[in-house]
Amino acid sequence: MTELLSNYVAGRWQAGTGAGTPLFDPVLGTELVRVDATGLDLPEAFRFARETGGAALRSLTYRQRAGLLAAIVKVLQANRDSYYEIATANSGTVKNDSAVDIDGAIFTIGQYAKWGDALGDVRALRDGDAVKLGKEPVFQSQHLQVPTRGVALFINAFNFPSWGLWEKAAPALLSGVPVIVKPATATAWLTQRMVRDVVEAGVLPAGALSVICGSSTGLMDQLESFDVVSFTGSADTGAVIRSHSAVAQRSVRVNIEADSLNSALLLPDAAPGSDAFNLLVREVVREMTVKSGQKCTAIRRILVPATLYDAVAEAIGAKLAGITVGNPRNETVRMGSLVSRAQLNAVREGLDALKTQASVLHDGNAKALLDADPALAACIGPVLLGASDADGAQRVHDIEVFGPVATLLPYRNLDHAIALAHRGQGSLVTSLYGADEAALGQAAVQVAASHGRVHVITPDVAQAHTGHGNVMPMSLHGGPGRAGGGAELGGLRALEFYHRRSAVQASPAVLAQLGLPQT
Ligand code: NAP
Repeated sequence: MTELLSNYVAGRWQAGTGAGTPLFDPVLGTELVRVDATGLDLPEAFRFARETGGAALRSLTYRQRAGLLAAIVKVLQANRDSYYEIATANSGTVKNDSAVDIDGAIFTIGQYAKWGDALGDVRALRDGDAVKLGKEPVFQSQHLQVPTRGVALFINAFNFPSWGLWEKAAPALLSGVPVIVKPATATAWLTQRMVRDVVEAGVLPAGALSVICGSSTGLMDQLESFDVVSFTGSADTGAVIRSHSAVAQRSVRVNIEADSLNSALLLPDAAPGSDAFNLLVREVVREMTVKSGQKCTAIRRILVPATLYDAVAEAIGAKLAGITVGNPRNETVRMGSLVSRAQLNAVREGLDALKTQASVLHDGNAKALLDADPALAACIGPVLLGASDADGAQRVHDIEVFGPVATLLPYRNLDHAIALAHRGQGSLVTSLYGADEAALGQAAVQVAASHGRVHVITPDVAQAHTGHGNVMPMSLHGGPGRAGGGAELGGLRALEFYHRRSAVQASPAVLAQLGLPQT
């Protein structure tokens, strides 16, 4: 029997009482560990986090809590090697792809530690300036933000067991709000190990951080009015979360990051072989292959001028032909596996659905896997599809295949291209490629309404840009409509989700005593 991972709730490690759900190595097919949350006293778990963890965190200032984040960074850095081992074994990712998850998380926490330190030794945040309520300034209104007096429940997706935890936990803890994380079962091991290391290092107050691995049953039922829930995962599960009575009847604040049909758009003036053309090709190949395309921000739709359709297809295909797929332990492998055989089946089904409206322009599955048994490994080569009728291929704008799959779509003119980008019904990110700054700027404004982030790549930022799919803590992560309507990161704006806004109406003398940061 493999090890049964414990849950950490109510200030102690507690094993589930069931047999456990096994987690697998998606390349070798071997069982790694098991998780189980059966029999946990969930009311006690949430009460302890809310009351003990919340009170302890709120007694600290923002600067002191920023110090806690800095201490977490040290713990995670000290144990980094073991996280890479778990990621290879449980997520099937090559080193560079594990880094996106692990080092991306450490960077994000470090960034919030810096921002939090600059907020200073205060316990509430100023929200705008005081405004007089009458003719004379003797009675004024000052908005402020205070930490919500509840718990933050995170229900996370399988593809980012590390970053998915910390990109949410950093702003929550900095805000003074305790965290309970429920990782996706398939990859819960890395989340559990990181929480274990932080708990064992004793850097956080009791109740500040809890982890529940296994079934989500009953979690939403625990939520009370001042709690918040942040969900990342499929649109279907997001809809279940949104319709739960905690949200509908108790006004629990909810943030949903769901699936997204992100696009890349080559502007009309790009010539074959131009810098903009080559930058699009490079970015598409990177996005299709990093983490085997299991990134919520990955490029799924590639919009190019109809005249360049064949040239782009050929250039992307030529680069994809060099991608080696297989066992991530083999250093010559560039792309590891999907997270599970179930995910492999889902990707194959999605591909079949897209193929009814698109043809295959490049199929990376003709080559043998390296060091991996195709009967066992959840590996799949990159597949580039193309739909010459971009308007008619509705499925390409509808179905997110969560793997190394993207579809090339030709457009007639820029207006058509922008209309196609909007067909994703709300996406996390689009990237624009070109050299004409005026045209790019105007296009960016036009696509912004349906995209949480617009990543504009000109030749002069070829080396400096941070990547279409790379989520930086400085920029908003989230998207309207189909992408879930959520908003994460984006600097200190992320703290708003974990705060309550209130207007204090009083004399200037009283307002001066609120302990807000100086303007
Ligand atoms: P999922 O099946 O929806 O699962 C997400 C989480 O919800 C898991 O922790 C899952 O637990 C839990 N869950 C399942 N049913 C639930 C229920 N009825 N009530 C409460 N929780 C429930 O999604 P996934 O397959 O893990 O993730 C892939 C999807 O996530 C993709 O569509 C991708 O686009 C999206 N994603 C979006 C972002 C973003 O930032 N927008 C980031 C990453 C991924 P179990 O694992 O135990 O079932």
